[in-house]
Amino acid sequence: MTLESTKQIKCVCGNVVTVKLYDSINVSADPTLKAKVMNGEINKATCGKCGKPVYVDKYFLYHDDGNNTMIFVYPEADRAREQEVKMEVAQSLRDSDKKIETELGELMTPEKKKEFSETGIAVVFGQDELRDLIL
Ligand SMILES: [Zn+2]
Repeated sequence: MTLESTKQIKCVCGNVVTVKLYDSINVSADPTLKAKVMNGEINKATCGKCGKPVYVDKYFLYHDDGNNTMIFVYPEADRAREQEVKMEVAQSLRDSDKKIETELGELMTPEKKKEFSETGIAVVFGQDELRDLIL
């Protein structure tokens, strides 16, 4: 399941740019999203006035059902609280079955969830780390 919204961000030049923000992307459902990840185009827009990139470093969830992969992508800024983030993720996997099921659609059965938690789950900080992982 891919979840997206838009946000108005003010560019350094003062122009207001609309950035498409992803909360969750499913690259098996839409392979063009993987290309966007590889090109650094997720949560980013280009200012129509000055041409500078406007980038929002925010959390999103990267799914690749085909490769049994679920990667929690946190902003670079959260690297300082890495342990806390990993505990949050572990907690959400343990306790928030409902949220995980919403994210993964009807795919999740208890066995599959166990499988995911043993194999395809990662926490990364920043999109560079994500790209390294899925290359
Ligand atoms: Zn600008």
